[in-house]
Amino acid sequence: MKEFMCTVISNVEILPHVNLMWLEASQIAATAQPGQFVTLCCGDLTLRRPLSIHQVNKRQIALLFKIAGKGTLWLSQRREGDRLNVLGPLGKGFKVESDSRNLLMLAGGIGIAPLVFLAQYASSQHSVKLIHGAGTSSELYSLSPLPSGIQVTTVTEDGSGGNGKGLITDILPDFLEWTDQMYACGPSGMYKGMAKLLCRFKSPAPCASEELVPSETFTQDKAEEGYKLKKCQISLEVRMGCGVGACYGCSINTKKGLKKVCLDGPVFELDDILWEGVKI
Ligand SMILES: Cc1cc2nc3c(=O)[nH]c(=O)nc-3n(C[C@H](O)[C@H](O)[C@H](O)COP(=O)(O)OP(=O)(O)OC[C@H]3O[C@@H](n4cnc5c(N)ncnc54)[C@H](O)[C@@H]3O)c2cc1C
Repeated sequence: MKEFMCTVISNVEILPHVNLMWLEASQIAATAQPGQFVTLCCGDLTLRRPLSIHQVNKRQIALLFKIAGKGTLWLSQRREGDRLNVLGPLGKGFKVESDSRNLLMLAGGIGIAPLVFLAQYASSQHSVKLIHGAGTSSELYSLSPLPSGIQVTTVTEDGSGGNGKGLITDILPDFLEWTDQMYACGPSGMYKGMAKLLCRFKSPAPCASEELVPSETFTQDKAEEGYKLKKCQISLEVRMGCGVGACYGCSINTKKGLKKVCLDGPVFELDDILWEGVKI
């Protein structure tokens, strides 16, 4: 199993209750793909905690994590030189089609974590736009690790910062005509909003909002009229048990049957998810 003892290079609180941790992890860095994750032993807690690979730089990987409970609190207290037991890279990451040109990324809050790696990976070959949403301005991620040339739009729910007030899904329709492939990481409410409103549109007609057809009303007739699915890959951050496919703790129902998030994901097609019973 790909388990390593990794040295903490730095661990800094960069946003309220959110840490950026760099680890010396050459073997993980050498093979990691955007969307993959690692699991970490956190003190004496039985279950390892999963975190997305946020950035890779030569022999190092970065993790961006929000303090959610005992495990992430313990991680936030690690200092330079501490050694961590890390397993990874795990799971199946994002796929970028070779014939796609325009990639749209949607990051809800801490969901920015895996998308920065994807943006860094894809931006030399593709045009990338990122929409980042947060509750309030102090939760907006500093965009300095993003390669230049990426167009970033930020929104906050309370209107205290960013380019406007609202949710990512409020402005998503403005980008649909432009994008060939979409990627998202965020809370389940964001995914459900996207699935409900924005996944299907008329092609090749311009994707004005009046062309959008809510999934619920999508029928075979609509397909015959030329409406088609706008696909989006999402990273599902469900609660995980073992993280390596042994315990079935992270199983979800999809249109393609029962899937384990740790092995078959965490990246799935948004349209494949059957949301009933998915707990994020
Ligand atoms: C594949 C994957 C990648 C992830 N990547 C990141 C990341 O890059 N950055 C980040 O901040 N978080 C990420 N998470 C979520 C992270 O794993 C959890 O926040 C963490 O395990 C919580 O552990 P804890 O001991 O601190 O909290 P716990 O005491 O275990 O739980 C505290 C609270 O966090 C909630 N929680 C627990 N597990 C999860 C989970 N998996 N997802 C969402 N909420 C959870 C619980 O419902 C509870 O309310 C990821 C999860 C998965 C499955």
